Amino acid sequence: MAILVQKFGGTSVANAEKIRRAAETALRAHQDGYQVVVVASARGKQTDELIADAKELNLAPPRREMDMLLTTGEQQTISLLATTLWGMGQKAISFTGQQAGFKTDDAYSKARILEIDSKRILEKLNDGYIVAVAGFQGVNAVGDITTLGRGGSDTSAVALAAALGAERCDIYTDVDGIYTADPRLYQKAVKIDTISYDEILELANLGAGVMHGRSIEVGKKYDVPIYVRSSVNDIPGTLITHEVPEMESILVSGATIQKDLTKITLIGVDHKPGNAARIFAHLAAKRVSVNDIIQTEVSPEKANLSFTVLHDDLDVARQAIADIRTEVHCQSVMVREDVAEISIVGVGMQSHYGVAETMFKALADKRINIDSITTSEIRISCLVDLEQAEKALVAVCDAFELDKPAVERQMK
Ligand code: ASP
Ligand code: MG
Repeated sequence: MAILVQKFGGTSVANAEKIRRAAETALRAHQDGYQVVVVASARGKQTDELIADAKELNLAPPRREMDMLLTTGEQQTISLLATTLWGMGQKAISFTGQQAGFKTDDAYSKARILEIDSKRILEKLNDGYIVAVAGFQGVNAVGDITTLGRGGSDTSAVALAAALGAERCDIYTDVDGIYTADPRLYQKAVKIDTISYDEILELANLGAGVMHGRSIEVGKKYDVPIYVRSSVNDIPGTLITHEVPEMESILVSGATIQKDLTKITLIGVDHKPGNAARIFAHLAAKRVSVNDIIQTEVSPEKANLSFTVLHDDLDVARQAIADIRTEVHCQSVMVREDVAEISIVGVGMQSHYGVAETMFKALADKRINIDSITTSEIRISCLVDLEQAEKALVAVCDAFELDKPAVERQMK
């Protein structure tokens, strides 16, 4: 019998009515002949509330204790779900991360799944139960509770789907799929029917905020089709899957804006082997994650080195640079917080010409200056003034006709 994993996010289980609807969805799939595993998040904003509770008592709560606390949110949901299912006459059982066999490393608050021993789940499925599993959590080698990082239930669900060899992992959420751009900023955005793991990974990392980035990596690695759909209606959602030939004929699948960035430039760094390594080793040691690195030679002796960091990491990054500045003979440091990054993503740009030109021209036509440009094989990003960023997004979306369904945008 085919297995289906259904994941319900916090808003989709926020109250009794929504939990009942989630239970009905699971029951329907069961009646359709699937063995069903439901992975659930904490109800509503409960995780945020628990974090606030802890911070009221200690501004720097120990990570181990936070994991102990936060996992209680998911435990409530799964028990309520199983209880609801019993009320509907359906056998059901809830499992914590540990009971479901999630073994993780011991990086509290951002643990990685090492292995899933799904024996107990399989036994219960074969006995006709619907199994409700707490998302976002696991257990480390010494038996302590860990969490996978904010938004980690997506990763629990996809990893479990992989471990169980599920036919698909359905992600039920409060949006009805993934759009070509954020509809709040580009009202004409349209829903994407099918998109590749690689494109979603770029979009997730660029702050499109649709899904936990690691869940997509797991889906890609283990070939799990992921279907993002609405928990309130039955309209078709977005399927995330392997690249298929038709995807290549679509130049750009989506566009994003990222506003929480700061650009840091080290001006006049000594241009000699080992300096870049020294600077980034120092930033890494302070756990600053760095994006979009650009180095340019300004003379045989000197180079400028720019990169972006999240606003959240700015203070630590400043400190790290202050520590290393004299060692690399950096003449001055420039920090720009009023920037935003506009990106386009599409597997089709690997095999077509003129994509970059179209993007730059769209910005130029609106008299938007590009501060810097970075690319990957399937992405082009431009840093622009924060003030002009939303206008830039709209211009780029229009240029690539992201208001039209993909079939109408296919290149011959
Ligand atoms: N409840 C956790 C969070 O809010 C995990 C999740 O929802 O995916 O981050
Ligand atoms: Mg989420």
